[in-house]
Amino acid sequence: MLLEAEGLELAYGEVPACRDVSFNVGEGEIVTLIGANGAGKTTTLRAVAGAMRPRKGRIVFRGKDVTRMPAHERARAGVALVPEGRRVFPALTVRENLEMGGFKLRREPKRLAAQFERMLQMFPRLRERAAQAAGTLSGGEQQMLALARALMSEPRLLCMDEPSLGLAPLVVQDIFRSIRAANATGTSILLVEQNARYALETASRGYVLQTGRIIAAASCAALKEDPRVKEAYLGRR
Ligand code: ATP
Repeated sequence: MLLEAEGLELAYGEVPACRDVSFNVGEGEIVTLIGANGAGKTTTLRAVAGAMRPRKGRIVFRGKDVTRMPAHERARAGVALVPEGRRVFPALTVRENLEMGGFKLRREPKRLAAQFERMLQMFPRLRERAAQAAGTLSGGEQQMLALARALMSEPRLLCMDEPSLGLAPLVVQDIFRSIRAANATGTSILLVEQNARYALETASRGYVLQTGRIIAAASCAALKEDPRVKEAYLGRR
């Protein structure tokens, strides 16, 4: 397994957010965590990226216990996070944003340039906009940029938080196509989504979080047929 999380207990001060959360992501997989607002998805993703330290449990990445490894070291080890709400640097150009994402390649200019070129091939719209300030891009383009910026570091595991948030359905389809394209180049993906329909179409396996606990874990095909998932997250038919 690329990532294994076991028995995570996560809290904000005295306020518990997640309990006994265990899941894993295999090499090359797209795995999704779905659940309602406030279920603990973002919190779990933050723990994987190292932005939050679990009270209990452990996180193993590429066979190494990283539970206490700080976020910047985890990033260097190959975990990238695309946070909710995109958060590109609005005053910097698209090119500068991407260069920041490739920070760890800064001493290898050829590799950095090659990776930059790969991103522009994967996201042609960003090539057209390379010299433009990121803040002037549309929401969908900013999400593309946030994704491309994370990919600049050549991560082994990409953690994506709510990529569909606030975007029109057609744009969301583009984003999910890009997520699959990134996965096809070998990056494993942990996808947090409130929109279960999109998530279950994109991932191969999924976990359902409800009030801080995992209540179901199965292939996405099976989750789509699970009555609890159908009723709570896919809408009654
Ligand atoms: P959303 O889709 O709204 O982001 P989520 O499933 O990602 O939902 P989390 O954001 O992980 O849920 O929140 C899990 C729980 O932790 C919620 O009860 C939430 O109120 C609480 N929580 C989240 N962030 C904080 C914080 N900074 N301080 C205190 N409690 C928090």
